Amino acid sequence: MSREISKLRNIGISAHIDSGKTTLTERILFYTGRIHAIHEVRGKDGVGATMDSMELERERGITIASAATHTEWNGHPINIIDTPGHVDFTIEVERALRVLDGAMLVLCAVAGVQSQSMTVDRQMKRYKVPRLAFVNKCDRSGANPARVTDQLCEKLKHNAVMIQIPLGVEHDHEGIIDLIRMQACRFEGENGEKIVWGEIPEKYKIEAEARREQMLDAVSMFSDELMEAILEDKVTEEMIHVAVRKGTLSRDLTPVLMGSAYKNRGVQLLLDAVVRYLPDPTDVDNEAFRVGKDGEEETFILSNNDADPMVAHAFKLEDGAYGQLTYIRLYQGTIRKGDNIYNSRTGKKVKVGRLVQMHADQMEDIEVAHSGDIVALFGVDCASGDSFSDGTPVSVSSMHVPDPVISLAVVPADNKSQANMAKALNRFTKEDPTFQTMKDEETGDTLIMGMGELHLEVYLERMKREYSAEVTAGKPKVSYRETITQSTPFDYTHRKQTGGSGQYAKIVGTMEPSDDGEFHFDNKVSGGNIPTEYIPAVEKGFLSMLGKGAFVGHPVQGLRVILEDGNSHAVDSSDQAFQSAARACFREQYGRGKPIALEPVMMVSVEGPSEFQGEILSTLMQRRGIVQGTTEDDGFVRIDAHVPLSEMFGYATVIRSSTQGKAEYTMEFAKYAPAPAELTEKLVKEFAEKKAAGNK
Ligand code: GDP
Repeated sequence: MSREISKLRNIGISAHIDSGKTTLTERILFYTGRIHAIHEVRGKDGVGATMDSMELERERGITIASAATHTEWNGHPINIIDTPGHVDFTIEVERALRVLDGAMLVLCAVAGVQSQSMTVDRQMKRYKVPRLAFVNKCDRSGANPARVTDQLCEKLKHNAVMIQIPLGVEHDHEGIIDLIRMQACRFEGENGEKIVWGEIPEKYKIEAEARREQMLDAVSMFSDELMEAILEDKVTEEMIHVAVRKGTLSRDLTPVLMGSAYKNRGVQLLLDAVVRYLPDPTDVDNEAFRVGKDGEEETFILSNNDADPMVAHAFKLEDGAYGQLTYIRLYQGTIRKGDNIYNSRTGKKVKVGRLVQMHADQMEDIEVAHSGDIVALFGVDCASGDSFSDGTPVSVSSMHVPDPVISLAVVPADNKSQANMAKALNRFTKEDPTFQTMKDEETGDTLIMGMGELHLEVYLERMKREYSAEVTAGKPKVSYRETITQSTPFDYTHRKQTGGSGQYAKIVGTMEPSDDGEFHFDNKVSGGNIPTEYIPAVEKGFLSMLGKGAFVGHPVQGLRVILEDGNSHAVDSSDQAFQSAARACFREQYGRGKPIALEPVMMVSVEGPSEFQGEILSTLMQRRGIVQGTTEDDGFVRIDAHVPLSEMFGYATVIRSSTQGKAEYTMEFAKYAPAPAELTEKLVKEFAEKKAAGNK
């Protein structure tokens, strides 16, 4: 099979809920010949859009799990990674973004850039994803693609440039005017499959001329050839395409296209733009880690070359009817059916029994996958985020995974539910690194932890539906942390005589706060005062104490241990002695570091009509919010504030009732911050009570 990687496109569609992403995806699959009928979203005809494969999703009308679908447009293979819009599932979005080369930003022509678009846009920036914008719903009353383009520039700081204008809006919407071709395009036939180009109607000519000039001005910044051609009046379509592609790839330009997915207008031209302007896998540098000759970790750029050793990344797991389905992206080399591949994390070899290309919930068996491809493996046991190679340990750079900030206790109704719950939790934690489980030592209950109320709710529902686990859930609880605020030197000797042999270990150093919230262990012991083989035991000893701090009984974060000196004994020193020394030292020193309690603080963005600015502000103020920024635009206001998560329970209802349902909000973990005195007192008291109860 011949195959040109330069033709391949791996793209994501990211959008605010309700902007029409599902409808658009459905149309794309229809025009590319993947599906043969168009279904209404939300299953009015009982079928539902092809991309929404989970029952739950259909019901909620939001896409929770990202599915990858393969299709083809004009000889270009395209993989579409569906990225969920809801912010509680941010990790899904981030994981999808990691494997994308480019993306479409779908916006509603009426609602424009909304708070969720901003969150998703921030993530795209983090992963340096080039994108183009599609302004959907041009047929709706109030549609204004030019205004949405301005918002892209002002609110998201894009250099957004319209390469089309609508051929009428609202009731008059007929199609689009292409500013590169300078022709009008209509979409005829029952499903808009017939593309009819024609002259620009007289009444749109002046606007089209003006917008083209604007477009050329912006686009010529990326091409000297085009700039000269403009002066000499010798501009060709191809020159413009080349310049737009260049600007898009460097992320200095966002071409804006438009139409109406629902009315079947503009989708084919959007596909043309995907192929023309978005990157192929070789346009993007993807980094990976491997162990170099000197034993140190080194980074290298993955080659996208089929002849190089295989490197792949598992970005999504799904529990299908036939076992675990693992979506992978290949960054170099090939995978053939029957190949043995190595999981770099576990060091285990696995055989590729079946290799498939996915189309939502249908699949197609394939023999070989090439560099750049997104395919799925069957029955391969691994976790989401694992890397595969041909034998050498290689890891595709780790993803930004935020810590869970909320937890609740789950109690199964009976033994059967208990077993099912265990199965379900095992699966979910593999699929989603921001979803974790833990045993509550005090109560013996199982705790589930995640990024927000809705995040946990979805998993509770999935437990019930997919695994028939009947569970009762406790109240959600915020995950607090604690840390020290002062540096404290230590000099600790662990000595114990038990019968014949003894235990001896001496450690000297400093415990201090670290700025990044992580645990660090710096070994500065010289002269072999502590034999190197015992150093890891010291680190392990300290690490084992971090699960539960001595101040409020929550995990300790942001600690740096500097080990400077120590002593050992030829007979009595052991791993165990050094671990015990570290633990006892931590216990003794922790209080001297002036510990404080930390609480998770969220970045909350609320958006609504300006007349509700006062109401929105007061809901945030009542929740100890600290405003980070306010933007006003066209009768809408957006307020960004840092708000402690503990104050955010039930906020959805509050914001709805205080703004007549007209404002909406998104929330994303921002940081851990010192808890105020009152809360600290409460946590200290709770911890003391728990300890007292435990001692009875
Ligand atoms: P998603 O939440 O972004 O996936 O959006 P959906 O595709 O579910 O669409 C949300 C609603 O908008 C549905 O009722 C669609 O029928 C409707 N819709 C989608 N695209 C258009 C469009 O181009 N014009 C109009 N008028 N409605 C649309």
